[in-house]
Amino acid sequence: MEQFLSDRLTVSTGDITSMDVDAIVNAANSSLYGGGGVDGAIHRAGGPSILEECRDIRSHRYPDGLPPGKAVITKAGDMSCDYVIHTVGPIWHGGKTDEREVLADAYRNSLKLASETGIKTVAFPAISTGIYGFPKKLAAVIAFETIQEHLRRNSLPRQVKLVFFSESDLECFNQAVDKSRMSV
Ligand code: ADP
Repeated sequence: MEQFLSDRLTVSTGDITSMDVDAIVNAANSSLYGGGGVDGAIHRAGGPSILEECRDIRSHRYPDGLPPGKAVITKAGDMSCDYVIHTVGPIWHGGKTDEREVLADAYRNSLKLASETGIKTVAFPAISTGIYGFPKKLAAVIAFETIQEHLRRNSLPRQVKLVFFSESDLECFNQAVDKSRMSV
């Protein structure tokens, strides 16, 4: 496991559903009704109560779905963490539709919500880099810089864990953030 900003940002591989943290972030889709990838894994591990809360959020706050870049929070059902922060990353369309800014918003708004909720430790998957097709190295730099910026300005969350699903994705991150790391 690698550490940045003292120990406030850590990077590792693993399954996000079994992280020892207060909250995990879900790379959801706008429907909030579950899906494939990490979204499916979180709903399977957490059980039906998460979907019930998501339906409630849809009917009361987001009848047309959660827009990309925004974030909402639910409890975590059967998982050991307390909360799931659901955010929607951008679908990659070649970089012509503000995908970079929307991805930064997804990280920024998830961190803001974590901070407002009093969450001390939070784990993120590599949002948008699966089914949504965002280039992994570019996503790594955006994730790293956006998280860094939040941590510099806020005391909560105290620690952020970036969790990659494979060694090759972790390697991709390490290559991509080499320069940014030097400025930490
Ligand atoms: P998106 O639709 O935002 O691209 P995906 O779930 O398809 O979301 O993928 C996002 C990232 O999450 C990918 O890098 C994928 O390999 C990773 N991933 C999938 N399942 C898990 C899991 N259980 N824990 C951590 N990361 C996961």
